Amino acid sequence: MVGIVLVSHSRAVAEGAAELARQMGGQDVAIAPAGGLEGPEDAIGTDAMRVVAAIDAVWSDDGVLVLMDLGSAVLSTEMAVEFLDEDRRAKVRLTDAPFVEGAVAAAVAARLGRDLEEVASEARGGLAGKAAHLGTEPGAPVTGTERAGPAEGPTATIRIIVDLPHGLHARPAARLVQTAGGFEADVRVRDVTAGRGPVSARSLNAVATLGATAGHELEVVAAGAQSQAAVDAIRALAARRFDESPEDLAPVVAPAAVAASPDAGAADGVLRGVPASPGVAIGPARRFTTPELTVPAVLPTRGADTERAALEAALADARGTIARRRDDVAARAGRARAAIFDAHLLFLDDDELLEPALRGIRDGEPAAAAWNAAVQELAAGWSALEDPYLRARAADLRSVGREVLAAILGVEAPRPELPAAGILLADDLEPADTAGLDPATCLGIATAAGGPTAHAAVLARALGIPAVVGLGPALDAVPEGATLGLDGEGGSVHVDPAASVLVALEETRRARDEEAAIARAHTAEPAVTRDGERIEVAANIGRPEDVAAAVAAGCDGVGLFRTEFLFMAREVMPDEDEQEAAYRAAAVALGGRPLLVRTLDAGADKPIAWLPQDPEPNPFLGIRGLRLGLARPDVLDVQLRALVRTAADHPVRIMFPMVTTLEELRAAREALERARTATGAAAEPEVGVMIEVPAAALAAGHLAGEADFFSVGTNDLTQYTMAADRGNARVATLADPLHPAVLRLIGFAAEAAAAHGRWTGVCGELAGDPDATALLLGLGVRELSMSAPAIPSVKEAVRATDLGDARKLARAAIELATAAEVRDAVRTRRRVPGPPAG
Ligand code: PEP
Ligand code: MG
Repeated sequence: MVGIVLVSHSRAVAEGAAELARQMGGQDVAIAPAGGLEGPEDAIGTDAMRVVAAIDAVWSDDGVLVLMDLGSAVLSTEMAVEFLDEDRRAKVRLTDAPFVEGAVAAAVAARLGRDLEEVASEARGGLAGKAAHLGTEPGAPVTGTERAGPAEGPTATIRIIVDLPHGLHARPAARLVQTAGGFEADVRVRDVTAGRGPVSARSLNAVATLGATAGHELEVVAAGAQSQAAVDAIRALAARRFDESPEDLAPVVAPAAVAASPDAGAADGVLRGVPASPGVAIGPARRFTTPELTVPAVLPTRGADTERAALEAALADARGTIARRRDDVAARAGRARAAIFDAHLLFLDDDELLEPALRGIRDGEPAAAAWNAAVQELAAGWSALEDPYLRARAADLRSVGREVLAAILGVEAPRPELPAAGILLADDLEPADTAGLDPATCLGIATAAGGPTAHAAVLARALGIPAVVGLGPALDAVPEGATLGLDGEGGSVHVDPAASVLVALEETRRARDEEAAIARAHTAEPAVTRDGERIEVAANIGRPEDVAAAVAAGCDGVGLFRTEFLFMAREVMPDEDEQEAAYRAAAVALGGRPLLVRTLDAGADKPIAWLPQDPEPNPFLGIRGLRLGLARPDVLDVQLRALVRTAADHPVRIMFPMVTTLEELRAAREALERARTATGAAAEPEVGVMIEVPAAALAAGHLAGEADFFSVGTNDLTQYTMAADRGNARVATLADPLHPAVLRLIGFAAEAAAAHGRWTGVCGELAGDPDATALLLGLGVRELSMSAPAIPSVKEAVRATDLGDARKLARAAIELATAAEVRDAVRTRRRVPGPPAG
């Protein structure tokens, strides 16, 4: 019997189509799905080795028919065939039959014992039934990467307006291509306003290089069986403004316009954002540049087949890298900001790019040269567009091109770097880029996106680099090299400031540097309040390697080990031994100081590749933190076993993130008992509850009865109390942890803990703000955990505090009406000199 292989980008699609075909053809038809990529269940992509394995699985001397979905599925299959023995190759037939209908028709024919020729012919005729039913003709089959001609069948036309401040750039164009691609219809788009097009909506490059800017009218014409449904979906997409995030829909404001605001300097532009990392920076504006990769002038020619295989393998490589980057950005900044990487992925499947590259290879060029030429030619098209925002998208294409080129050449893709010392301007920052910044050359960071507790801000604080985030699209208009004065506490960036402003900023910086130097000189000493109470000042870390800087900064221990960062960029879950090694490394580096480890806090904005989750409409209110741990005891148990094993030799504390109810705490404690029994460990580590949900704070009395300590996660407690997403710059001013509502919850939890003889710490970003130190101590907090650079000044703030005064301050603060009033009250008390009015 002829075997059938189904190659799809999606494992679920391949398996679903195989199941459907089996239902029609019979369970004993030899069908093997080959969908998706190695890794998490839903990794999208195609893998030649999976196709080889599938062919093996259904091998028959009668032959094997292979059906493929689109783009790289065809290339991967062709590559798989190359790997087969010559005698087998002759018996494998690749077909351009429709994927699902073809699979069903082929299964029926194979089951009837038809030969390979007939099975293939049945598969290609798979659309006949549907076409007859709908009264349409089946569309022209697509072969390899050849373009389909216009589809036959009914047509539908709509006109839509591009209601996007940046026009139909790569991300919304990608949404259009994705939407159009979901229907059996040939969709073409014309920019009526500019008189450009029509172009095929199958190609991201074609659609985006139409250059449709804000307000342009587009005509969308669809032909084919589902033409009406396709245009309806595109109309709905346009009405949803192409699913762009509110930040990206904010009107474009030039710095000059900002300067006109009443509180801005008379002649200088001032951009206002959100304070993210303290300090003053003065220097030229710098944007990342990525060094170009050069293609060696003389490359050995290895034959068209080998070169094509090299390109295909590099494309698969780049797909994996970009998908990981997308997941990472989604984790830090939300899905909307990560959507640009979906556009990058579409580049890799775009005929406008693949076609010329493959043509070059067929004409005898090496893959690297052919690919590079195709990228440069297309990027030149983008660069020639009128709209500066769209023109800038050529950089996206070049960046994707570089990724693939590096893979073909077998070298590391060059990372973006600061071209010279200055203040880094970026849309948003990836952790890998932020972590690689050197405070000696990166004097400050200004980003268009992000909130103060987003991951980029957390990293900037850890590096001691002043930062302002959420400056919005106005940042785009700041010229490279312009002199900037950045105030990380005031949240402002002065563009080409007047000399008087520069002098005042310099003065503030000098005063703060002096203060910091004094604080550093005493940082190894304990933090004891004026009335003699010792306060534990600890560090937040994400990896064992961070401990060294924390100890150098004078930490009394680690008060928050965010274990998810340690294990995020991975394909598989780290096993018990590997986890234990990481915890031990941190504990050893701490030299006997306490190590407080938080169990995996995945979910919401921190998805983890090896821990796939079903999509949720509101992930911050869904399965995250301990909820995910309890839903996946296999994951939680491994981590707890590694922790209790470490606790046998080191002072380890364990805490659970996002606890909401007492039942959850009990279930978590049961899991810990399971781990202790399984490992036979005698150690009984202290068990803590993170107070991040208002319900936990309000019911703290019950939790305190069954926990050893509390640690308040003010980042999440603030976002949940104020109903303001912590990663959204537009609500950053609402998400102020100094709001009396948040302070009341902290005080309530600390009081409940004290009543049970338990201690309360704070490990959210508020703990690292010396302005808030007295207030937190007054509310009953006795441990503060923060990024390492904040430790010296917070220790100083502790030493300046009398607990009796602090209690009075706290009592007064919770009675105030607004966060601004609280801020004024704490600043007045410390008499902090403000930065120059911006
Ligand atoms: C917090 O929410 O304040 C906290 C410390 O946890 P994370 O920032 O990792 O969510
Ligand atoms: Mg949290």
